[in-house]
Amino acid sequence: MSKKHARVREEPPGAAQDVTQKKAEKPAARPGAPQSKSMPRKARGVKRDRSPCHVENDSIIKQMLPSLNKKRDKVRGIRTNPEVPRLVAKVCKEIGKGELWLGPLPTAGRMQRITNVKHSIQIHCFKRGPTEVDVQRGEGGELIPGTMPFRCEMSNTRQRLTDMRALKPRVINSLRQGDNAYIHCVSGISRAPVAAAVLASGLMNISFERAKYIISQVRNVDFRRKSEEELQRGWGTILHEAVPTTPSPTGFSCRTSNPDEVVVHATRTVANSLEPICRWKKGVAGKQDFKRDTITVPTIEEASNQFGGTFCANCIPLLRASLALDVRRCYR
Ligand SMILES: [Zn+2]
Repeated sequence: MSKKHARVREEPPGAAQDVTQKKAEKPAARPGAPQSKSMPRKARGVKRDRSPCHVENDSIIKQMLPSLNKKRDKVRGIRTNPEVPRLVAKVCKEIGKGELWLGPLPTAGRMQRITNVKHSIQIHCFKRGPTEVDVQRGEGGELIPGTMPFRCEMSNTRQRLTDMRALKPRVINSLRQGDNAYIHCVSGISRAPVAAAVLASGLMNISFERAKYIISQVRNVDFRRKSEEELQRGWGTILHEAVPTTPSPTGFSCRTSNPDEVVVHATRTVANSLEPICRWKKGVAGKQDFKRDTITVPTIEEASNQFGGTFCANCIPLLRASLALDVRRCYR
């Protein structure tokens, strides 16, 4: 048995449970809270691993639009001299949370500006990986450190739909839980803006037209150009597909009854009982065997340090990108 497991055993299970239960119960005090505009009063005291509240409309970006429009570049960007990254969608009130940024291919020279915002997702809108594309000789594309990469191959009529369908739920759920995403092509004025409009439409529950209007206010994108028509075709079904909401975990838990086979789940408290997010659709039956002898910590890092074991493979795809990256970092 490893030291990690031994430590779990040393904890008097009853006492540990009491502490974690108390912590975990706090968010449940306001079950209908996620839609409210300000942070729920009770959630404020819980510092770690709390995802902020989000809106499912364009009220936040709408308010920011006049000032964002004033900052729009005077001249339309080009490949070697693109417009800087711009905020095109936002669903959390807090600065630097729930934001979708649209810009050019990240390069070494542009990286600092891009990483001023802490992104957990990078979406590139062409076939090859970002590092296989150059702006010009000697100026190559890069991956943004600490992000989960997604592709949306915009120039391929069929592939772009497949790619978008694969990335949309993870991106939307991550942003609603406070993560940020950076979407780009090479110059950020044609392919990525259309993909960004599709995402923004789903994220903020607005029409494709409205999403394109917002983007055209912050970047010199002209969606009415003849050359832009093809990119905007075929999105009908995806635009109307509802994105299943994945729950935001409030802690990370494992059962203490079998210290030799520790599996850590992302959990949340529903009606005062602890529920692994991988079983969130299974209702009461799914919760049954997670009722007793569990121990919960607020972060993945603490789970890794205190419990060790393995992380539940079914929970990982349901985590917002930043947490899935934490799992990858702490549970390699
Ligand atoms: Zn799980």
